[in-house]
Amino acid sequence: MDEQPACDEHVRVCPACRLEHCTAHAGVCAEDGHTACTACLAPCGSCGRVVCNRHAEQSGAGAPKGSRRLCAACLTYCEGGTNEPVGVDEVTQCASCGKSVCTAHQAICAVDGQVHCSQHLRRTDKSRRLVCARHRAGCAVEAMAFFASDEVEECPVCGKHACAQHRGTCGHCGRQVCTADLAPQSRRCATCAQLAAIADPPVEVVAAARAVTGGGQRASRAWRMARDRSHLVVEVDLGLKRKAVFTLRPGTTAPESVVRHSLLGSKRRQ
Ligand SMILES: [Zn+2]
Ligand SMILES: [Zn+2]
Ligand SMILES: [Zn+2]
Ligand SMILES: [Zn+2]
Ligand SMILES: [Zn+2]
Ligand SMILES: [Zn+2]
Ligand SMILES: [Zn+2]
Ligand SMILES: [Zn+2]
Repeated sequence: MDEQPACDEHVRVCPACRLEHCTAHAGVCAEDGHTACTACLAPCGSCGRVVCNRHAEQSGAGAPKGSRRLCAACLTYCEGGTNEPVGVDEVTQCASCGKSVCTAHQAICAVDGQVHCSQHLRRTDKSRRLVCARHRAGCAVEAMAFFASDEVEECPVCGKHACAQHRGTCGHCGRQVCTADLAPQSRRCATCAQLAAIADPPVEVVAAARAVTGGGQRASRAWRMARDRSHLVVEVDLGLKRKAVFTLRPGTTAPESVVRHSLLGSKRRQ
């Protein structure tokens, strides 16, 4: 160490550098309390604990906080990148795969707001937002386009997802449906185009109709009905050219949407 001959009694071998040194030039490594020469001891670049060179590792120059000499407790490897050594304070758990990923190799999904490895994320075609695999979606009308899950909605007629540009409102039942299920001339959805007269509607339909018309109505009115992926669409003739069109989810008796039609126009309720 310092050219002065160390006496036999005080001589030690540093386990880090394997060189002999005198106890006067020794310190303790915080890792497991062993002694080491002072030349091999330095504080960890993150927590400041003094550790020997054998119990420290240098993080990569490309690490978010730069190259630092870190103790074993403060060092990890970025599993979302090239497995490069990085600080524990530079990584986050990926919400997709659960691995530790450093800030240089991670990004946030625009839908869930969580950190993911960059490799799981993709940019949507139109909005250019980054989304994880779980939040990718497509539009039934344009097979190759790639959307975020919050940019599409399920068409109640066919059950497929469609983007805002490929959805439209049915003028009869008032639901948003995909353009493939919406006739451009009549502005009616495929289900409303198939409404068929029915003499004896099921009890749940009669119950739902009562909620729509305010009850006290005769059962002899004219009914038309059709069923699709998500609803039973029911049209009730209220007389005087007035009609009510309501939708009902299977197994329920409360209408999900109601549109009233009269000579004065249409009014949507719910
Ligand atoms: Zn050590
Ligand atoms: Zn440390
Ligand atoms: Zn990384
Ligand atoms: Zn991941
Ligand atoms: Zn996501
Ligand atoms: Zn559809
Ligand atoms: Zn579309
Ligand atoms: Zn419709």
